[in-house]
Amino acid sequence: MFTKLIFSTILLFSVSIVFAQTDTGQKTNTKLIKVSNKIYMLQGNGGNIGLSFGDDGVFMIDDQFADDIEQIQNDIKKKSDKPIRFLVNTHFHEDHTGGNAALAKTGTVIFSQENVRTRLQGLIRRENKKIPQEALPMVTFSEDLTFYFNGEKIYVFHIHNAHTDGDAMVYFTESNVLHTGDVFFNGKYPFIDTENGGSLKGCVDGLEKAMMVINEDTKIIPGHGDVGTYSDLRKTIDMLGTIYKRVFTQYLNKKTEDEVAKMTDITKEYDDQGYGEGFIKTEAFLRMIYKEVAKERSPMDKNNEKNEKAREKIEQMQKEYDKKNKKN
Ligand SMILES: [Zn+2]
Repeated sequence: MFTKLIFSTILLFSVSIVFAQTDTGQKTNTKLIKVSNKIYMLQGNGGNIGLSFGDDGVFMIDDQFADDIEQIQNDIKKKSDKPIRFLVNTHFHEDHTGGNAALAKTGTVIFSQENVRTRLQGLIRRENKKIPQEALPMVTFSEDLTFYFNGEKIYVFHIHNAHTDGDAMVYFTESNVLHTGDVFFNGKYPFIDTENGGSLKGCVDGLEKAMMVINEDTKIIPGHGDVGTYSDLRKTIDMLGTIYKRVFTQYLNKKTEDEVAKMTDITKEYDDQGYGEGFIKTEAFLRMIYKEVAKERSPMDKNNEKNEKAREKIEQMQKEYDKKNKKN
């Protein structure tokens, strides 16, 4: 009875939790969560994986860390004995592309936005012993790409300069499921990789673009966090916009980064909802936004400074002229 109860509870939530030892001896905890009839989300140590199971085979989005890929492959095999034919990388970060080489060796064809391949090439050059050449996507695109797979149209589209400069989202049109990659962290402050072309403004624009593709019934697989909804996405856009505006105002008030980083009232309502309890803490998030505002404003501020100096000079000349005229 007890076993039966547990079993039906597991079925009810469509969640299976698997523990196993990988060959590194590390214990990996993965969860396979049903999102729609044929779409699943696999949670583990890295970014959320999206999976489509069907007659054509397995379609996969992201593949977490290299150390965990064996476990992930086993989880997928338990669900389908068909091959993983296509993999889309939502961006180049290691917690989303670590399994690339292992999957490529089994015949999976890897797709990504072209900047992902360029960034990965850079990583391979820098850490050539760690990442094998096979990790590179075999097919790249600049703006978008469409698959016809497992009985539905799968639309992959590029989001410009958001979490990185190579982000892509994947929309399963019949299943009505969207995978956002790391442009969307559900319920947490996002990490924005400004060193690699990311920006908060790009995230907001990208999420607005996603809102145009989806509808109120869409289920959303975020880069990190639990499955979300249309309103979760809306809430994230509002949160990003609100905090950005507040930091912008403080910047114009000539507050320094250190001062703004300590202004708890800027983020209070979101902190109270747990936004600062993820990978990115409140202070780090405020500092990141401050830097973006400062970077964006600095050419204008420099111009203002120049104008100010020019004005002073003109005033000075005017005074000297007046003095001279008086003497005469
Ligand atoms: Zn990332």
